[in-house]
Amino acid sequence: MMRITKVHKNFGGVAALAGCSLMVDSGKITALIGPNGSGKTTLFNVISGIVPIDKGTISFQGKDVTRKPDYLIARQGISRTFQQVRLFKNLSIHDHVAIALSTNDETLLRNFFRTRKDQPKRIKQVLELVGLDKPPQTYASDLSYGQRKLLDLAVAIAKPHSLLMLDEPVAGVNPKLRQQIKGIIRALAAKGDTILLIEHDMNFVMDLADKVYVLDAGTIIAEGLPRQIQDNEKVLEAYLGD
Ligand code: ADP
Ligand code: MG
Repeated sequence: MMRITKVHKNFGGVAALAGCSLMVDSGKITALIGPNGSGKTTLFNVISGIVPIDKGTISFQGKDVTRKPDYLIARQGISRTFQQVRLFKNLSIHDHVAIALSTNDETLLRNFFRTRKDQPKRIKQVLELVGLDKPPQTYASDLSYGQRKLLDLAVAIAKPHSLLMLDEPVAGVNPKLRQQIKGIIRALAAKGDTILLIEHDMNFVMDLADKVYVLDAGTIIAEGLPRQIQDNEKVLEAYLGD
């Protein structure tokens, strides 16, 4: 579904990505793990077109999307979350999901006022899927950290997409919510969604991912089934210094 080939990205003197290559298969959960600062978020940023790529290519569903701007990437069907949750303080849970559902090639404002007949049902479905147990009129500013993570996930899920990219969906959440989010990711995959998941913690992806890539200093140092990665010496070494 997506092929990343030899992608380079420098920030001043720092090589955040140094020839990174990977593939995302349709209908699978692909995990990208690696120590802090290894370039995981930067890879998401270049894929989603918010950080310009220096070198390399990105193809999505057979199309070259390497230098496409972010709104065109989104329109191609790539939806993502951010490591730092991005929500509107004065917008309710309901409105966040409503806007996300009607995101397409039109402007945000126009979408906001456009209603679809099946929208209430779809909003309910998305909120049930993530298990955000709060009245839909609750403002984002009145949610706990964990609830914000869930709403951010709901927004990404609600946007029309064929690839869902999640940047550390369980960072900083309690063990119970961690299990809940794991269940959500499993449910999405079971419905046929394609997922590219960034995670710092190797253990989280072990019983979740179909395939794991390990990024270190901007390069993929290992790839394979979770159990193949677990005892890989290069991987353990990369994590030791973290
Ligand atoms: P990860 O998500 O794996 O923790 P990042 O992709 O956030 O790693 O960062 C990789 C490297 O690139 C780090 O050294 C980081 O400081 C640097 N970096 C990331 N984004 C920027 C930016 N916008 N400007 C300058 N340096 C950046
Ligand atoms: Mg990151």
